[in-house]
Amino acid sequence: MPLTHYACANCGFWQEHFAPPDCPVCTDVRNDLPPDGWHFLPESEVAATHEGDARQIADDLWAFTTTPHLGLGGTGWLIVRPEGNIAFEAAPYYSEAMLARIGALGGIASLAASHPHGYGALFQLQRAFAPPVVAIQREDLAYTKAFRVTAPFDDTLALTGDVVLHHVGGHYAGQAALHDARGRRLFCGDMFKIDQDADGRSTHVSSHKAFHRNIPLTHRELQTYRDAVAPLDFEAVLTPLEYAPGIDTAKALAVLDAALAVPPQVTRYPL
Ligand SMILES: [Zn+2]
Ligand SMILES: [Zn+2]
Repeated sequence: MPLTHYACANCGFWQEHFAPPDCPVCTDVRNDLPPDGWHFLPESEVAATHEGDARQIADDLWAFTTTPHLGLGGTGWLIVRPEGNIAFEAAPYYSEAMLARIGALGGIASLAASHPHGYGALFQLQRAFAPPVVAIQREDLAYTKAFRVTAPFDDTLALTGDVVLHHVGGHYAGQAALHDARGRRLFCGDMFKIDQDADGRSTHVSSHKAFHRNIPLTHRELQTYRDAVAPLDFEAVLTPLEYAPGIDTAKALAVLDAALAVPPQVTRYPL
């Protein structure tokens, strides 16, 4: 069987392989196994059956999504900057039109993701734009077989301009958040889960080790989040799934302080 990229039909995680024996994201304690056994989709099949969309969120921010739904259904964010664009997280798959849109916006100078749930089809962005910087925190390198990390990092890594990666751990050992100081945004990975109503208004915020299986974080993990977030100025958070304007530094710290004040448990705090 030829070496190609395969997406897990259950979670969307991509592997470059000839016959994936299993999916490291689905076998992980944070996720559920597929109820009917493994099913892996070769890239040619995904390309033939999926399209996507690009939505402009702000002057300097675009959101890329894939239809129909694939895997976790995440968002690929693109921060557009004159000194070089930054892609953070990736959509589950990019059509030719989506890649052409990124090219028209200036391509990609730096590529990074928070943790394996945000990787999406990051390998496509590396293949299409060959950004000099592909940054993943070193604790999560075991999950990066579908692409090549050029810039592993420990605690922090400055990307283009005033956009900086911060290792926060917790949900995944190598989880990183991306702080965009100019845009006053925190791309927080799965540090926070935002519940939103049908109109996209944020209603509740929580922090978990595992969302679907309701496993809480330890106090030390929450404290590490708090230490990372406290010095950062932001007025919006962006997870792989949600854009949540209005959640600023003070609100994020209040959620973490509330969780630190009680024994480990899964609580959704109203905003
Ligand atoms: Zn999977
Ligand atoms: Zn996650």
